[in-house]
Amino acid sequence: MCGILGYSGERQAAEILLDGLAKLEYRGYDSAGIAIFDSEHNKITVEKNKGRLQTLREKIKNNNAQLSGTCGIGHTRWATHGEPSDTNAHPLWSDDLLVVAVHNGIVENYKELKQELSEKGYTFYSQTDTEAAVKLIDYFYRENNDPLSAITSAIKKIEGSYCFVLLFKNNPGEVWGVRKDNPLIAGQGKGESFLASDVSAILQDTRSVYYLDNMEIVKLNKGDVRFYDSEGHAVYKKLSRVTWDSQAAEKGGFEHFMMKEIHEQARAVKDTLRSVLKGEKFDLSESGLSDENLKAVSNIYIIACGSAYHAGVVAQYVLEDLAKIPVRVELASEFRYRKMPFEKNSLAVIISQSGETADTLAAMRLAKNNGIKTLAIVNVVGSTIAREADNVFYTLAGPEIAVATTKAYSGQLIACYILAMELARARGELDNVKYCEMVREIQKLPEKIDEILDEKERIKEIAGSFIDADGAFYLGRNIDYAVAMEGSLKMKEISYVHSEAIAAGEMKHGPISLIERGMLIVGILTQKNLYAKTASNLIEAKSRGGFILSVITRGSEFLHDEADFIFYIPETDEHFSASLAVIPLQLLGYYVAVARKLDVDKPRNLAKSVTVE
Ligand code: GLU
Repeated sequence: MCGILGYSGERQAAEILLDGLAKLEYRGYDSAGIAIFDSEHNKITVEKNKGRLQTLREKIKNNNAQLSGTCGIGHTRWATHGEPSDTNAHPLWSDDLLVVAVHNGIVENYKELKQELSEKGYTFYSQTDTEAAVKLIDYFYRENNDPLSAITSAIKKIEGSYCFVLLFKNNPGEVWGVRKDNPLIAGQGKGESFLASDVSAILQDTRSVYYLDNMEIVKLNKGDVRFYDSEGHAVYKKLSRVTWDSQAAEKGGFEHFMMKEIHEQARAVKDTLRSVLKGEKFDLSESGLSDENLKAVSNIYIIACGSAYHAGVVAQYVLEDLAKIPVRVELASEFRYRKMPFEKNSLAVIISQSGETADTLAAMRLAKNNGIKTLAIVNVVGSTIAREADNVFYTLAGPEIAVATTKAYSGQLIACYILAMELARARGELDNVKYCEMVREIQKLPEKIDEILDEKERIKEIAGSFIDADGAFYLGRNIDYAVAMEGSLKMKEISYVHSEAIAAGEMKHGPISLIERGMLIVGILTQKNLYAKTASNLIEAKSRGGFILSVITRGSEFLHDEADFIFYIPETDEHFSASLAVIPLQLLGYYVAVARKLDVDKPRNLAKSVTVE
């Protein structure tokens, strides 16, 4: 999820790696580490720690650590499995430091691998998923000291998304890499070569790069860079020239982090899904939720702030409909000062990207003090909320830099759907056929999200007409109302256009009097049984001068003639439709902000993580 580097050449590797990692710091990370191969003495040395890169630098300086060597690997970690700690920091190694590796991504079947390897006599010292893969590679490497065949054999067994960069003790001077669904590029210099997860890390050294395809393997040995396919056959790759400046490189070529993160949503959804998908079923046992626990729940409090609260509102509709459990969604800042009677067998679901949100934390403590079981849905492993909650379900969205959340919100939705499905299944509210159908459908969301993003230019066009907008309404019913809240927030927080989300049925109770000629009215329609109702509210708004933008499921005829602009989203199970409907709304907020020349990634007066009341 975070940063990875490799170097082989004539210069001292440690400085190059530390400088390269510094270029990746902007992404956020919780630990850093490097391993240096001293070929002369055939010795690999690892230095790593939880916390800042600066701490690592100082540690290396103070220890007088002998990090001499012209070949090495480096890592900044964003924990997914195992808390941020010195032990869990990368590089990780096998016995005798025979294989030393860094990893970005997730080894989904690490438990099975650990089990198999334990039977072969391996022991494990970290809590990471990565260590299982390192030891598996070690196992094959011990067979014939051949890194290529060790890697090809291991990737046949490793499931998940990964990019590994490795040193092998009996192959001095060499750095190996392999990737699947996680980025890795190789940089070509004179007499030296590089591996990096992100081109910005090596731009100061070279602009000549090779882009690795999925399941390709690379070997660096000074200026010699070779590639292999997953069977170990040599492959020829073309050198490309990077023309981006370093700022553009950090943003992966996008103009803003927010747009980059909007495009990372399919991946965030996929990773979050895969982390709990076991075969054809979800398995929340790692989050401490057995069927027994799920059956015992009498009602649910969802507690969150901001976008996480909006994800909670979606969850409320989904949970009530699927699992037939009463749900209350509460703003954490309100909940913490309420004097309400608590139901004993309740479950409090606490949602927070950072896991440090002050109000959410206080509300969670209040629930705990009242004897309520807590389940945290958080993105940052080892955060305070994650540590203090009884159970945790991690969203795997990776670090989010733009203040306005997109991919973390998408991850939260997925966690909520899965929770709802599991509660419904355990309580006998969802039969097996329907459950399996939903499991299949939810896995199609990433593809459908990308399909919507392919049409982003259409939203850009429309956004151009609202540069001077001074107000917008977002209307919907049921889940569509919850999506309206998030869409409206995206508009106000980055575009500074005053916008309101309104439950469509409430229009007549007041807001309709605010409609003026040309005002933007966004209608969200994904719930078939409510199409007609919301459509008539939109037509009423139009007849008072509103400009109607409708986001509606493909195949529907509603508003075909009345809306000023229609954006169709792919069909899906209606419980999951928020995941699709929100995408054009994120884009709309984004493009209006860009058209208004605003600082999209750092909107005024806002902070990424709200750690004060
Ligand atoms: N899953 C690995 C871990 O938790 C790698 C995390 C990363 O990509 O930084 O250690």
